Amino acid sequence: MEIVQVEVGLLQNFSTLIAAGRECAIVDPAFEVDRLLTVVRERGWTVRSVLVTHSHHDHIDGVAELCAATSALVYVGAGELERLRAAAPAAMVQPIADGEAIPLGEHRIVALATPGHTVDGRSYFTGNAILTGDTLFVGGCGRTDFPGGDAPTLWRSLQRIASLPEETRVYPGHDYGATPTSTVGWEGTHNPYLLCRSESEFVALRTGKSPPRPTRGFR
Ligand SMILES: [Zn+2]
Repeated sequence: MEIVQVEVGLLQNFSTLIAAGRECAIVDPAFEVDRLLTVVRERGWTVRSVLVTHSHHDHIDGVAELCAATSALVYVGAGELERLRAAAPAAMVQPIADGEAIPLGEHRIVALATPGHTVDGRSYFTGNAILTGDTLFVGGCGRTDFPGGDAPTLWRSLQRIASLPEETRVYPGHDYGATPTSTVGWEGTHNPYLLCRSESEFVALRTGKSPPRPTRGFR
């Protein structure tokens, strides 16, 4: 499979194209759809699917335009389906369950439920790459203070991604890190959110609240 990242818009968003043979899936088309379609045209690809990591506007604002230009089906977690159906041709939008696979050429892409940044976010696993949306950034992770966000839930989703083979390449939803991509192994040894030893330590770091003071010694 070939993976092409395109940085779009003013929020350092990545839209990411995954191709197998002549078939292509586009993850999180939000801005500058014409640039994405230029890549598709230049390489002679056909867009089969749009994979949505989550329904924040900076990840979905281009879905309708892309649907108008292609016959791609749109996949999103069921808990964020209504928001997508309001933003794109409803008949093209389908829920995708945890563990469900989407065929792409001779390959398949597997959806992983990774909620916590939003209520029913998805990451997409190709076998040697994971597209993490706003769940995991290079050296960071998504916020949990928007509606549907929940820090303990995000912790569990991050643990799930961290359990993938360490050579798995990480393609995040924003260009917020020192490099555009990294690996699961690098994140596990450098990302402060993955270096947390417990859920409570993570929640304190993510929400900016100090951990409880140790009571040992004196009170
Ligand atoms: Zn987001």
